[in-house]
Amino acid sequence: MTAVAEQATYINDQAIFDCLSRTAQPEPARVRDLFAKAREMQGLTFDEVATLIALQDPELTEELFHTARAVKEEIYGSRLVMFAPLYISNRCTNECSYCAYRASNRELHRITLTQEEIAAEIKVIIEQGHKRILMVAGEAYPNSNSLEYVYKAIETIYATRSGNGEIRRVNVNIAPLPVDDFRKLKACGIGTYQCFQETYHRETYAKVHPRGRKSDFDWRATVMDRAMEAGIDDVGIGPLLGIYDWRYEVLAMLQHIHHLEERFGCGPHTISVPRLEPAAGTDFTATTPWKVSDADFLKLIAILRLTVPYTGMIMTTRESAEVRHKCFQIGISQTSAGSRTDPGGYELAAGDFNSSQFAVGDTRPLDAVVREIAQMGFTPSFCTACYRLGRTGTDFMDMAKPGEIKYHCEPNALSTFTEYLEDYASPETKAAGEQLILTHIAEMDAKQQRIAKPMIAAVRSGQRDVFV
Ligand code: SAM
Ligand code: SF4
Repeated sequence: MTAVAEQATYINDQAIFDCLSRTAQPEPARVRDLFAKAREMQGLTFDEVATLIALQDPELTEELFHTARAVKEEIYGSRLVMFAPLYISNRCTNECSYCAYRASNRELHRITLTQEEIAAEIKVIIEQGHKRILMVAGEAYPNSNSLEYVYKAIETIYATRSGNGEIRRVNVNIAPLPVDDFRKLKACGIGTYQCFQETYHRETYAKVHPRGRKSDFDWRATVMDRAMEAGIDDVGIGPLLGIYDWRYEVLAMLQHIHHLEERFGCGPHTISVPRLEPAAGTDFTATTPWKVSDADFLKLIAILRLTVPYTGMIMTTRESAEVRHKCFQIGISQTSAGSRTDPGGYELAAGDFNSSQFAVGDTRPLDAVVREIAQMGFTPSFCTACYRLGRTGTDFMDMAKPGEIKYHCEPNALSTFTEYLEDYASPETKAAGEQLILTHIAEMDAKQQRIAKPMIAAVRSGQRDVFV
């Protein structure tokens, strides 16, 4: 029997449209007050976010980026957490207009990986140097029997080993579940449960999701209520940018965050900012009027960084190097690399567009991306410590807020990056990485150095999985 969805009453359209109809430019003094407040890591209210969304002035927009950069540096330093997506099945019973996996897309080559194939994919990913996976699947499990396939896949991923490597955290992006199934998913040892609302605008949502389970707006918009009720306290949310007006999506997502904070005492662990990509047999991306320009994309990332300073922000390497560089400085804390969006794509070594969910612009292997990121001055982090030490949900926030993150995440980033350099890096990447480690150690305070130096030495002498 299909579970009936609770109503998503947290979205207040009137409040959002009232804000968006105010076109007058905010007073510079008011905007600068907001920047000062954000620098105190206090976040911003709904009205304050609306004020920044309206901002057009180029000078103040530059100040917005400077402020976001200061907040990002204070909380995340130069760390960037790396992960790889793993698509296990592109079968789907839904009809999302923008996605190549939609049921009616005859051009798509359908694949569901066997457990052996999943293990083979994971070996390739481990041998690249990854420790963190985002497992993704279409929605082709109308009953919880076939969910067993998903649970088994998680078990297979954790059980697969290659050389010194293993996957230490499996995050999952699958369709919304009822509470009981979320309990089973949690029991599999997942890290973050991620699900994007795509659009919070009910009417637009109905147009782009005409059929299938996903056409029930409320079922999707209340998904995190059920996940958190089931005890999954690291959840990841996000709009799919380009379906509707990004300004609406940011304000509605903020209402979603406030709702979760009120109900569970903790907001989402991460926010993703995917932009629509071209997809096989799909002309939606060519026809949508809501494409998000680079300028607006950067602005929305900076605004989100000020609004929810302690929430991780994820982007993929599909974005150009220039856009990524700026995004890493002003807010992004996690990025994928070496990605394939077709089931089996890692083993095949070349992504097959006709079985992919969307086009991957950047198909370089992890080594090349890591080198580029290190040369940009960011530390690629393969850390998975928090969730394994139970620092999730409110416990993570409690640690993050007093600035303690510096004494955990920075050393963990350097020790896991050292592990990557020892086990997987090419000579050029190793040289760039060693230089980066020297620079960052020199920039650390004495307490950080006391923690980080022995950890790095332990990894160099052969220990693995060293974290605090
Ligand atoms: N089927 C599940 C669902 O829809 O929630 C989970 C997997 S689905 C493949 C993961 C996400 O891919 C979707 O939530 C959507 O935001 C994103 N996606 C779909 N089509 C896309 C496209 N053309 N460009 C970028 N992202 C896309
Ligand atoms: Fe299926 Fe998810 Fe793609 Fe929609 S976005 S067609 S539910 S895989």
